[in-house]
Amino acid sequence: MPASTTPSLASAPRPSRWRRALLWGALVGLLLVAQSLLVWLTLDYESNRAQEQVDAAAAVSIGDLRRALGRDLQSLQALTWNAPPILEWRADASDLLRSRRELLRIERRDAGMRVESAVSSPFHAQIFTQIPRDSMEFEAQLACTNARRQGSPSYSRSYFVPLTGGMGQEVVDVCLPAQVAGETTGYIVATFSLAQLLNEVVTPEVTRAHELSFVEGDGTRLARAGLPRGLGVFRANRVLDLPGLTLQLRVDSGTGSPRLIPNLTVALVLSLSLALGVVVWLLARDVRRRALAETALADALATRRAMEDSLVTGLRARDLQGRITYVNPAFCNMVGFSAAELIGQATPPYWPPERVQEYTARQQVRLTGAPPPREGYETTFMRRNGERFAVMIFEAPLVDGHGQHTGWMSTALDVSAQRSVEELSRQQQERLQATARLATVGEMASLLSHELNQPLAAIASYATGSLNLMNDERDADSAETRNLLRQAAQRIAEQAERAGRVIKSVHDFVRRREQAREAIRVDELIDSVLPLARLQARKSGTRIELDLPTPLPRVVCDRTMLEQVLLNLTRNGIQAMETTTPLPKRELTIRVRQTHERWVTFAVIDNGRGVPTEVAQRLFTPFFTTRPEGMGLGLSLCRTVIEQHGGLLDFQNLPGPAGSARPVGAEFRFTLPAAAASHTSTGATLPRETPQALP
Ligand code: ADP
Repeated sequence: MPASTTPSLASAPRPSRWRRALLWGALVGLLLVAQSLLVWLTLDYESNRAQEQVDAAAAVSIGDLRRALGRDLQSLQALTWNAPPILEWRADASDLLRSRRELLRIERRDAGMRVESAVSSPFHAQIFTQIPRDSMEFEAQLACTNARRQGSPSYSRSYFVPLTGGMGQEVVDVCLPAQVAGETTGYIVATFSLAQLLNEVVTPEVTRAHELSFVEGDGTRLARAGLPRGLGVFRANRVLDLPGLTLQLRVDSGTGSPRLIPNLTVALVLSLSLALGVVVWLLARDVRRRALAETALADALATRRAMEDSLVTGLRARDLQGRITYVNPAFCNMVGFSAAELIGQATPPYWPPERVQEYTARQQVRLTGAPPPREGYETTFMRRNGERFAVMIFEAPLVDGHGQHTGWMSTALDVSAQRSVEELSRQQQERLQATARLATVGEMASLLSHELNQPLAAIASYATGSLNLMNDERDADSAETRNLLRQAAQRIAEQAERAGRVIKSVHDFVRRREQAREAIRVDELIDSVLPLARLQARKSGTRIELDLPTPLPRVVCDRTMLEQVLLNLTRNGIQAMETTTPLPKRELTIRVRQTHERWVTFAVIDNGRGVPTEVAQRLFTPFFTTRPEGMGLGLSLCRTVIEQHGGLLDFQNLPGPAGSARPVGAEFRFTLPAAAASHTSTGATLPRETPQALP
C-alpha cells in the first residue's frame, strides 16, 4: 500500500563509481585532445602564413628580377644599333650605367671579340684592377660565342672578381651580338653584379624581412641582399632562367618557427583552455558536492520513511483546504483505508456519517487558523468495517522550509483499547464502591439497630399505653382518654417518622445512583452525609462542627462517590476519638476552603491520637486496617475517587503542645475542582489541570 506521495530519491538509480570515473576520464581526455589540437592548429596556421609570406616574397622578387633584366637587355640592345662612333657610344653607355646601378661595366667589342671600348659604372670601384680583363675573358667569350650562334643575347656563368682590400664580388656577363644583315659586326658585353642586382631590384619591403641570395645547385651562395641572415625555417627557392645561365633565388625569412608562449593567439588559446579546465574542475567539484548532498538527502529520506513506516502512531497531513496530503501506514492500518483512498479527500471516509457535520464544522474552525488544543482532543473515527473507535488527535501547524504555513500535521492514537479498559475499571470501581457502601452499612448495623430501637421502643410503649387506655372501660370514652390516645398516636407517628428517616438515610446512602459529574454546592454535599455521620457521632458523644466559607463554593464531582469519601473520613475521625479522647474533646470539624480559583479543599479534622508512623506508611494500601472489624478499603477507595476527580488526598497529624511528641489529632484533606460561575448542575466537565498542592 503506497503510504506517501513524496517522490523517492532513495530509489532513483545511481550511476556506478567506475562509470562515473569513465565519464570523467573521457571528458578530461577530450578536453586535452581538443586543447592540443587547437594549439597545434594555431601553430600550423602561423607556420603556413609565414611560409606563404616567403613564397609571395620570392615570387614577387623573381618577377622583379626578370623585369629588370629584360629592361636592361633592351637598353643594352639600343647600344648595338647603327654602330655609332666610339665617343657617342661611350656617352650612351655612361648614361646607361648611371641609370642602372646593377651594371658595373659595358664593353664594346669588335667582331673578333676584342674590346674596342669599355665604360665603368661611376658608382662602383673598377672591377678588373686586381686581375686584368684579359685573364678573365673566358666566361665573356663563351657567352659571346653562344650569342653569335643564336643571334640573341646570352649570359655567361657567374664568376668571382676580386676587388681591392681582399673583397670581391660575383658577377655575370651578358653578351649581345650586333648584327647587320645576318653578319655579326661586333658585341656589347655588360657585366652585372649579382649582389647589386638583388639590392637594386628587390623591393625594400621584401629585403626588410628576408635574406635574398643567389645560390648554385650545390648550395654555394653567390650573392646576397636583405637581412644579414635568414633563420632558415621558412624558405622559398625560385629559378631565374636566363639564356645561357640558370640562377637559383633563395628567399629566407627572418621569421623563426612560431613559439608557444610569446605567441598571442596561442597564449589566448592556452589561457582559454586553462579557464575551461578551471571551469570544468569547478563544475566537477559542484557536481560531486551535489551528488554527496543528494546521497545524504536520499539517506535521510529513506531513514525518515523507515521511521514513519515503523511508527505505530498514525500520521496525517492536511493542506490549507483541509485535503489530506499524506498518511503513514500506521494511519492506514488504523482506519482500514489505503493511502490512495485517503489522499486528496476533504471529507475522509473514516468520519462516521452521523458526525460528518460536526467534524466539518470543526475543520472549518481549524482552517480559519485557530490553533488546535495543545493537549490534543479526543474524537471518534470509523474503520472500513463500520466500527467506531476513539482516537486521540494532536494537531500542529505544518510549516515548510520557507517558514510558510502550508497545512496541518496530526498524530492519531487509537485509544479504543485504553477506553474499554477504563470503562471496565470504572465499572469495577462502581461495584467496589457499592460493596464498600454495603460494608459500611453492615458495620453500622448495631448502630442502626440502636437508632431504630429507640423509636421502636417508644412506639411500642405508646402503643401499649394506648391499648391499656382503650382496655380500661371506665375511661374509654372520656374526653381525657381520647386526648391521651391522640397524643400517643401523634408520638407513634413521630417516632415512626424518625425510624423512617433513619432507614431512608441508610437507603439513600446505599442506593446506587447514576454516575455523573455535576456542580454541587459544598453544603449540599455535606448535608447529604451528615445524618449518617451524626448517627455515628451521637453514639460516642462526638460533636460535628462545620466550618464553611461564604459565599459557598460549588464543586464538580460525582455526588455518590464524594458522599462515600466524606462518610469514610468522618467515620474514621469519630472512631479515632472513640476510645482515647476525653468526652468534652470529642469534636470533629469539617472545614471547606476555596484555596484556589479552580480548586476547593475539604478537611476532616479530629482530636484523636493521630496516625502512628508505621500505620501512616500503609494508610492508603487496600485492605490495610488496624481495626478488628475494619475492611481496610476506606482510605484506598477515597484516594482513588479523589484522584479520578483530578484532586489529591493527603493527611497530616496535628502537632501537640510544644515539647510533646504526641499528636493531638489528624487532618485528612482532599481537593476537588471548583465549578466555574456559569456551571449548571449537570453536564459539567472536569478541568484538565494539575491540582493545586494541598496546603
Ligand atoms: P478501616 O476503616 O476499615 O480500618 P481505612 O482505610 O478507612 O480502613 O483506615 C485504615 C486505617 O487507618 C485504620 O484502621 C486506622 O488505623 C487508620 N486511620 C484512619 N483514619 C484515622 C484517623 N483519623 N486517625 C487515626 N488513624 C486513622
